[in-house]
Amino acid sequence: MAVDYRLEGQAAVITGSTSGIGQAMAGALAEQGVNVVLNGFGDAAQIEADRAALAARTGVKVLYYGADMTKPDEIADLIGFAHRELGRLDILVCNAGVQHVAAVDEFPDAKWDQIIAINLTSVFHGAKHALPIMKAQGRGRIVNIASAHGLVASPFKSAYVAAKHGVVGFTKSCALEVARAGITVNAICPGYVKTPLVEMQIGDQARTRGISPERVVEDVILAVQPNKSFVSYDQLAALMLYLVSDQGGSTTGAALTIDGGWTAA
Ligand code: NAD
Repeated sequence: MAVDYRLEGQAAVITGSTSGIGQAMAGALAEQGVNVVLNGFGDAAQIEADRAALAARTGVKVLYYGADMTKPDEIADLIGFAHRELGRLDILVCNAGVQHVAAVDEFPDAKWDQIIAINLTSVFHGAKHALPIMKAQGRGRIVNIASAHGLVASPFKSAYVAAKHGVVGFTKSCALEVARAGITVNAICPGYVKTPLVEMQIGDQARTRGISPERVVEDVILAVQPNKSFVSYDQLAALMLYLVSDQGGSTTGAALTIDGGWTAA
């Protein structure tokens, strides 16, 4: 049975959607008839080719706005652009994120500031500018892509873990504020997803450690993921579509795990 999420004609902004999870989320929304604004870094020609291909495949409006998530003014401009060009704003998926791995006493100050700015503070600025529009419409959906690291920690990822825990806290507080306004705010907490970055790590680790890619996946990358399977884009998209649909209207302020059992351990 095909699920009808009834999203046709809605408008969405997906931050960090030139790659990986954000790109998959934008594709899933466009396939449901949602007009989307893409955002993120990358090669300009590739971004334009991907934008045009998604528009041709789905028949919806697919726009691109290259706001830098470390810059509050540019985040405000991104939301303003989407509202102006698409005439409304129903869905905001805050997905842009970066990682840096180092011991706390060796963690570069600039990397800490950058991770907090992109992974946490941009989520605040996105909501701050989207909420007035959503309140005026009487309906809205904010989905923040946190992480299993929003709920539990790993060593050497202090900035990322701090930012993602912050996203979960911000999500709850924001959800309570707008609970009567027809707006839901939720966090998705994925375990490992096989994005291009993770694919590269598998090859690198297999070469460095002299073991098979299969062993790298099971013993190194998915060591913390009890089902030993990556979370797929389809699984993430299904959860996100539920959250932004009317059917998801009673789910708010939640940090929803999709991690193969990682945070149950
Ligand atoms: P990715 O590197 O494939 O994509 C990140 C996106 O963010 C890209 O489009 C990039 O251009 C954009 N971006 C980076 N800095 C930016 C900035 N300053 N301004 C605007 N855009 C910027 O990564 P991904 O694996 O798809 O991760 C997406 C989100 O999912 C992140 O928040 C990440 O923390 C989270 N996440 C990923 C995994 C995983 O296993 N891949 C697991 C849990 C959570």
